[in-house]
Amino acid sequence: MIPEGVHKIRVPLTGSPLGWVNSYVLKTDEGYALVDCGWDMPDALEALRKGLEELDIKLEDIRRLIITHNHPDHYGLSGRLVQLASCGVTMHRLDAVHIQSRYVDMSSLQAEMRNWLQTHGSPDADLDAMVKGSESILERVNIATPDVEVEGGETIGAGPLEWRVIWTPGHSVGHICLYEPRLKAFLSGDHILNPISPSIGLHAQSMGNPLSDYMSSLEGIRDLDVEMVLPAHGDEFPGFRERIDELLRHHSERLDEICEIIDRDGPQTAYEAATKMRWVGLKDFQNSPPFQRRMATMEALAHLELLNGRGRLRRTIADGGVVRYAAPAPPGTAQVASS
Ligand SMILES: [Zn+2]
Ligand SMILES: [Zn+2]
Repeated sequence: MIPEGVHKIRVPLTGSPLGWVNSYVLKTDEGYALVDCGWDMPDALEALRKGLEELDIKLEDIRRLIITHNHPDHYGLSGRLVQLASCGVTMHRLDAVHIQSRYVDMSSLQAEMRNWLQTHGSPDADLDAMVKGSESILERVNIATPDVEVEGGETIGAGPLEWRVIWTPGHSVGHICLYEPRLKAFLSGDHILNPISPSIGLHAQSMGNPLSDYMSSLEGIRDLDVEMVLPAHGDEFPGFRERIDELLRHHSERLDEICEIIDRDGPQTAYEAATKMRWVGLKDFQNSPPFQRRMATMEALAHLELLNGRGRLRRTIADGGVVRYAAPAPPGTAQVASS
């Protein structure tokens, strides 16, 4: 059940296996706000307009968009909504900073990504397709420049309710969630989903180690008093702490799976490891779309880097710059530093 004071509108993501994104309507001191808005497609805008109408709210009455993170399915419609409603846009500083390179001038990001994929073992013949695999999504992004950049710790006032902004890096570097202690409600964006597990990938724009950030972000919110999780995809659900524990367990099993692959088959690039990992909804890695292979490679890499950081694997760099991850050398053996 959705707590009082929050409303949910299902915005369709036509063609996406995610099905829809939830746009949540909140009241703030400025007026109505939407948390996430879907992408720039006529059916998404129509669903939003209709959903608001049922609440007796006109689209033009929306004063603010609060974007949990800068992915197209959460942010893509924002430019059009700003034109229609003259509303403001709130986003974390670290996601706001990447809007230009993700959506306006992608040339340097694409060059970096190509290099990155090559370094991590993607076959040369595949590189162009893997880099360009996400270009079609650009048609669904109409950007807006955030006028309010948050860092986490702010509150967004809504009459008696006060939503706390919590920075939860991992799925994206500037991902935010909103928590309302009186309602015991947690707007989780893509940080906590159920039953799917959000993708956590290390890519050219990542800072630090996204999987380590993700797991710390889950641990950091685990003690909050939450009765209902309101995610960006799927239905709301209770069992906040249980779901956090499941997600943490899922990643620690993934880490073990990768170590087993390397024990069995020897040093692996991220691409090679990705071809051997088990994926939900990606049965045949080689024949899956290039964009999905890129996502899987980045996700494998996030796990490999965490294992390297923890000393369970070691990063090696071959001539030509290709990076492989190997089992740590037995104690007492001389090691060549490689990082
Ligand atoms: Zn996302
Ligand atoms: Zn999403």
